[in-house]
Amino acid sequence: MAGETKAADEIRQLVIVGGGPGGLTAGLYAARARLDAVLVEKGAAGGQILVTDRIDNYPGFPDGVSGFDLADKMAAQAGRFGLETMSAEVVGMDLESEVKTLRLGNGGALRALSVIIATGAGPNRLGVPGEDELLGKGVSYCATCDGPFYRGMRVAVVGGGDTAVEEAVYLTRFAESVTVIHRRDELRAAPVLQEEAFAHERVRFLCDSEVVAIEGREAVTGLRIRHADGGEEVAAFDGVFILIGVAPNNENLPMDQLRLENGFVVTDAMMRTNLDGVFAVGDIRAGSVRQVVAAAGDGAVAAKAVERYLDGLRRDLAELPSRRRKCPAAQTP
Ligand code: NAP
Repeated sequence: MAGETKAADEIRQLVIVGGGPGGLTAGLYAARARLDAVLVEKGAAGGQILVTDRIDNYPGFPDGVSGFDLADKMAAQAGRFGLETMSAEVVGMDLESEVKTLRLGNGGALRALSVIIATGAGPNRLGVPGEDELLGKGVSYCATCDGPFYRGMRVAVVGGGDTAVEEAVYLTRFAESVTVIHRRDELRAAPVLQEEAFAHERVRFLCDSEVVAIEGREAVTGLRIRHADGGEEVAAFDGVFILIGVAPNNENLPMDQLRLENGFVVTDAMMRTNLDGVFAVGDIRAGSVRQVVAAAGDGAVAAKAVERYLDGLRRDLAELPSRRRKCPAAQTP
């Protein structure tokens, strides 16, 4: 879905960094607005949804859609309107000047008047045997996405923060029993969330306990748990939700320039960051609800904000090409 190749030193109107749902939607809107935009993605387009077996909460797919298919459709849709994509890793950024510079892993660079950061986030991993092998086969990092697959089953939730405790209660909508396994004897979650979970008859807590391995061959069958006294047991479970926080994909962002909150990029409602012409969307954004549909919404808002920003610049820089189209000449009947 590549468009016309540009000269390396040409200043683009927009560079989108990251090809998850937020970046792809921003790209779709930018391409339809006929912006000179390029989306840079280091791996395959789709981001985190590529590892989501089925997405049941993206509107328009009454029977659900695989993460892979949804990513593929989003990329194809943006491509239909001519979005240019580039397979490269952005390894450094200078975003303070009017013309932004993005350094690429292949030694090249891109220059642009505006940038949308859509680098996403990734779930923290436990790092225990069985975790990678059983991903999508009982190991999940998203209760909203995968909870409905565990109807009538026994699930474990690892973690003691707001997400773990809140999602444990959510999972009781489907699961027969939910066991929260937390490494300390005190939860980090807000008291109100704790109270709700403690009061729920199908949520139980196993504190001062660590998951040291996830057992199963074709699918999860249980967890090896180490207790505070050093004793270990294997407890039977059909699934495990690892909800121990997420880490922003911010390694290559200019920390000294961008305003961050716990590593996530702070934006206003129009997805503007503290830097002129720099926007952030999706899971990298502070306060994101971390849902595909929300990232897509952010992408649309950011692309609209970029249009406005460029229109403002155009008033200052007369040489910028106009995106406006003249009405066609009156047709004679
Ligand atoms: P979090 O607050 O960082 O909590 C992570 C939890 O996972 C902690 O209990 C931590 O244990 C545990 N943990 C971390 N690494 C672990 C490991 N290697 N092995 C075992 N356990 C591990 O993450 P979060 O719950 O995802 O919340 C993230 C942010 O979103 C927070 O600011 C939270 O307030 C917010 N949030 C708010 C709501 C809400 O308001 N309804 C809902 C969800 C999230 P320790 O406690 O021992 O460190």
